[in-house]
Amino acid sequence: MSRFLSGQYASLKEYVPGEQPQDKKYVKLNTNESPFPPSPGVIAAVTDEEVEKLCLYSDPESKILKGMLAESYSLKSENVFVANGSDDILNFAFMAFSRENGAAFPDISYGFYPVFAELYNIDAKIIPLEDDFSIDTKKYLNIGKMVVIANPNAPTGKAIQKSEIEEIIKSNPDNVVLIDEAYVDFGAESVVDLVKKYDNLLVVQTFSKSRSMAGARLGFAFASAEIIKDLEKIKYSTNPYNLNRLTQLMGVKALEEQEYYDNNCKKIEENREFTVSELEKLGFSVIPSKANFIFAKHEKISGEKIYLKLKDKGVLIRHFTAERIKDHNRITIGTKEQMQILIEKLVEIIKEEEK
Ligand code: PMP
Repeated sequence: MSRFLSGQYASLKEYVPGEQPQDKKYVKLNTNESPFPPSPGVIAAVTDEEVEKLCLYSDPESKILKGMLAESYSLKSENVFVANGSDDILNFAFMAFSRENGAAFPDISYGFYPVFAELYNIDAKIIPLEDDFSIDTKKYLNIGKMVVIANPNAPTGKAIQKSEIEEIIKSNPDNVVLIDEAYVDFGAESVVDLVKKYDNLLVVQTFSKSRSMAGARLGFAFASAEIIKDLEKIKYSTNPYNLNRLTQLMGVKALEEQEYYDNNCKKIEENREFTVSELEKLGFSVIPSKANFIFAKHEKISGEKIYLKLKDKGVLIRHFTAERIKDHNRITIGTKEQMQILIEKLVEIIKEEEK
């Protein structure tokens, strides 16, 4: 730390991203990326001509991209916000909507929520998940704070019902209810259509998972025109050009090829079912997941040992050290071949442990 850092940040515990090894050595199942490349139109969009245009600023209003998103999700452009990954949107939302009343979110969820809460010195009500890692949505009724829930939740993969979310929205009319749908395309139910009905709902999604563009950094959100205007105000007060030209262009192309991504989601869901049944045969218990990852615990071997031994054998998964979840590991669902390698390596590890 330099002697120049503002005192308020001295004790801030920053978010720690999953490992991003820069060689291709690993079967990489640790940060919930798609194993599939972006669709052909996205790849073809990056022409020399488009790269040459990088000497010009991007459209700060992202008009074309917002128009396409509005059309794809049956809303209006005024209900759409886009930013540099959904992390950017979560940051803006904590900054804009939680400083007066505070924020409520589960103890086991996306690790960035408590970081934003600390960053902005927000009164955070952290609500423990139930023993089976489910969210008891009744605990968020009439809470009087911004509510932040990932659906499906991370790292558990558990989803909640749209009707339960609607109850939370209805019972907190004076606060924003932020539903983080980063993983919704793998089998959970979206609440995007409720944006037309409630002016306090903010739904956040991303191109990083189902649309294979984690490295391009493109997040989007839907809400009432008023909430979107507030987010725009924060964006224009920090970084108006937060979305580069190529990412905006690739986002539009991806939306034109939705069928490709729908097919990929289907494959991921099939590979998820395959992986769960293989893991159960090997003595793992797996939480039912609606995401592109699963959260699994072995009956005998510790979570840390499995993580380290798999890493040694060239397979990266995500291990967390928090007490409640240290015996679980989060495993991203990749291609069938990748999942077969994972299973083979786990069979080896279990044999080694039995010796
Ligand atoms: N929300 C959740 C629940 C996540 O797991 C992630 C990915 N780490 C994000 C948001 C952020 O994703 P991105 O910034 O790539 O859109």
